[in-house]
Amino acid sequence: MNIAQDSVVTFHYRLKDKDGIVLEDSHDRDAIAYLHGRNTMVPGLEAELDGKNAGDSFTVTLENPYGVRKEGSIQRVPIKHLATKKKPIAGSPTVLNTEQGPREVMVVKVGRFNIDVDTNHPYAGKTLTYDVEIVDVREATAEEVSHGHAHGPGGHQH
Ligand code: ZN
Repeated sequence: MNIAQDSVVTFHYRLKDKDGIVLEDSHDRDAIAYLHGRNTMVPGLEAELDGKNAGDSFTVTLENPYGVRKEGSIQRVPIKHLATKKKPIAGSPTVLNTEQGPREVMVVKVGRFNIDVDTNHPYAGKTLTYDVEIVDVREATAEEVSHGHAHGPGGHQH
């Protein structure tokens, strides 16, 4: 069947930056499964998947799928607001406790009591290329439709 609204799509992908450096590769784990048409996937990628079938593969390059980098996104926060016990390292991601819940940020500078973090998404401002292989397309169950996500391997487990 063709991928349409409320199809459950299972696919493998390799994500590369514009220099061809592999940032993520699903082949090391389960293929991911998602419910099509619910805006849960990177927007340009979901548009490209629309109408395709199991066994299809394609490559798509998207400019700033995670948005542009915002200036003025460096914030100084007390180290005690970190959501992890792991020591923060400049240039590496860490997780902050915020009023909206845990949030991944990049560490810019580490001081004695405070750290400077960049709250842009780590992929903000990046042109990304996805190599996609569609493994399976099926109709969602009534339960998946009501939950708004796919169940089973690569989807939500609960
Ligand atoms: Zn569910």
